[in-house]
Amino acid sequence: MDRKRKEFFRGCLLGGAVGDALGWPVEFMRLAEIKKRYGERGIENLVLNADGKAEITDDTQLTLFTAEGLLRASTRRNLRGNCHLPTVVYHAYLRWLHTQGVKCKGGEEIVKNLDGWVSKIKALYARRAPGSTCLSALSNGRMGTIEKHINNSKGCGGVIRVAPVGLMFTKKDAFKIGCELAAITHGHPGGYLSAGLHACIISCLIEGMELEDAVSAAIQELAAYPGSEECLGLINKAVELAQDNDPSEDALKQLGEGWVGEEAIAIAVYCLLVYKNDFKKAVCLAVNHDGDSDSTGAITGNILGVCLGVEGIPPVWWEHVELRDEIIAVADDLQIGFEESERWLKKYPGW
Ligand SMILES: [Mg+2]
Repeated sequence: MDRKRKEFFRGCLLGGAVGDALGWPVEFMRLAEIKKRYGERGIENLVLNADGKAEITDDTQLTLFTAEGLLRASTRRNLRGNCHLPTVVYHAYLRWLHTQGVKCKGGEEIVKNLDGWVSKIKALYARRAPGSTCLSALSNGRMGTIEKHINNSKGCGGVIRVAPVGLMFTKKDAFKIGCELAAITHGHPGGYLSAGLHACIISCLIEGMELEDAVSAAIQELAAYPGSEECLGLINKAVELAQDNDPSEDALKQLGEGWVGEEAIAIAVYCLLVYKNDFKKAVCLAVNHDGDSDSTGAITGNILGVCLGVEGIPPVWWEHVELRDEIIAVADDLQIGFEESERWLKKYPGW
């Protein structure tokens, strides 16, 4: 295994998990409340639970299930030659739904036969304020697509879970597949194009581009998609703000609160660009605001984790993040892609 590449894959998933964990205690707090509780600079350290772990939320849980789905699709493609990738990932999301204690109409077969290893990880069954759109879209028994919208939601539940797509596919495919996987639950362009952007930026970084170039290349991809005006406007504003200003909460405010897809990716991109060499500063800026702190923290952490690798993440953060070893194992499997072995087939059966 290429050691360097492995570092970036691990950095991506661990980075997202620590951003998620840092933002979780303040997800539903306004900035003024955060400051009152944690001091003038806001929250700057992970909050550990009684087991000494910093808890992850639905953002990281769903990211792990995206990875599971992609790896199971990879098994299927390698063994059978054909595979409808979004359907295999949809099945993985139904397993996530099961971990949250919610039933899916028509999904009984899938949860009756819980094979593979991800859905056997006990800690994933914790409920950490899962997004209501993901729960309702997945429970209705129909898989959304870009052509057949399942709803008109532009919430950030799609963009927060697609980082593994960028690790596995080259930029054009990463954009398209990122959109397709988000559209399973989010039918508004803001809900799925933001996911395309996220996956595409990561893919460009894996290909070796500098951060600014990766963001520009992803914006170029975005511009070719129908319905991209709103998303395009906000992401360009994030880039402009990052060029014109010293890092500030006020600049961040102009990008919204991150509850919807395009705001979440725009906030992340702003934080990344202003603190591209400092993981801690970028992620702290990304969680200390009025809005959806764990989601904007997770996206920022995913992308900057690819840029800087695990060594760029403060050890005191990644060492304490819940499911650290499992997250590392999934990152390593994404890096391998497929392996014809009994161990692999047991972990990632091809359906
Ligand atoms: Mg969350």
